[in-house]
Amino acid sequence: MTHTNPDGDAIGSCLALALALKKKGMDAQVLIPDGLPDFLRWLPGIELSTTFVYKKEKAAGLVDKADLIFCLDFNDPERLNDLKQHLFRSDAKKILIDHHEDPVSFADITLSEPRRGSVGEMIFLFLRDMFDEDLIDKDIATNLYVAIMTDTGNFSYASSYPEIFHIVGELMNYDLEKDAIFSRVYDSFTVDRMRLLGYCIQQKMVVLPKYATAYISITDEELQRFNHRKGDTEGFVNVPFSVKGIKFSALFVEKKDRIKVSFRSRGNFPTNRIASEHYRGGGHINASGGDSFLPMEETLKHFESLLPAYASLLSGS
Ligand code: 5GP
Ligand code: MN
Repeated sequence: MTHTNPDGDAIGSCLALALALKKKGMDAQVLIPDGLPDFLRWLPGIELSTTFVYKKEKAAGLVDKADLIFCLDFNDPERLNDLKQHLFRSDAKKILIDHHEDPVSFADITLSEPRRGSVGEMIFLFLRDMFDEDLIDKDIATNLYVAIMTDTGNFSYASSYPEIFHIVGELMNYDLEKDAIFSRVYDSFTVDRMRLLGYCIQQKMVVLPKYATAYISITDEELQRFNHRKGDTEGFVNVPFSVKGIKFSALFVEKKDRIKVSFRSRGNFPTNRIASEHYRGGGHINASGGDSFLPMEETLKHFESLLPAYASLLSGS
């Protein structure tokens, strides 16, 4: 199982591991708390996944019957939403494989490597080190590559170390269609989503040069106006970095009961510090998130009011 609002690393890592375990004769299934974004629906093995919010009984049954549960790409069971209760009720052994800092201690075994750009890498190494035979094939390599590619923003962050490229080099041996995969993941906008992005850039992006910061906010009404589908705002938080000099970017998206906040940075600005200190969240230095429970306008005012305290960090390299 993996975290709510699953991304390419979450789904790719789970599917890769499930496909490999199936090759070993195990009945492996993938559980996700909520909706799968369209740009990941084509992944090999996707039929092994069950979405908890849509199929609660089936998902609960799978957890109850499981002998072993891998928890991938999250460091806190809170990131499972209501699936959490089922995990805790289960007698299965639990193995956490994750790359977020400071994992909560809830699993029987915790494999935590915050220095890695993705869990996809960790699954590659896990499969290589745990089994005598080579279980990786084209389908598994495709999932691992999607995990690694998406969690590093196509190798634009969290990837400045040799081993990640050695691993990608290894994956290329499995007939990996690297360029086609890029296109399937990134060149997959609907017209509505493209127009929403254009609207955000034109009307909603606020640039604060003094703090090398830019942010975009999107209300529920705006999402409706552009026939929003789950995952449509994925990646929007990276768009302001195309503006020269931006080091810190934030995205605020209005949900039913809260505002989902996403942070990204270039260089060494610790976005996870802001996320944990002010937004009940966390994550990595360059990519983190959390929630705001204020209305949108107040959320944005509050966000701007925080920046002076981080000014010295933002003016550094
Ligand atoms: P995103 O902005 O793509 O939703 O999240 C980026 C990263 O920030 C995630 O991979 C995760 O590490 C972290 N993150 C996002 N939202 C939360 C949150 O609410 N709580 C915590 N602890 N981490 C979050
Ligand atoms: Mn990840």
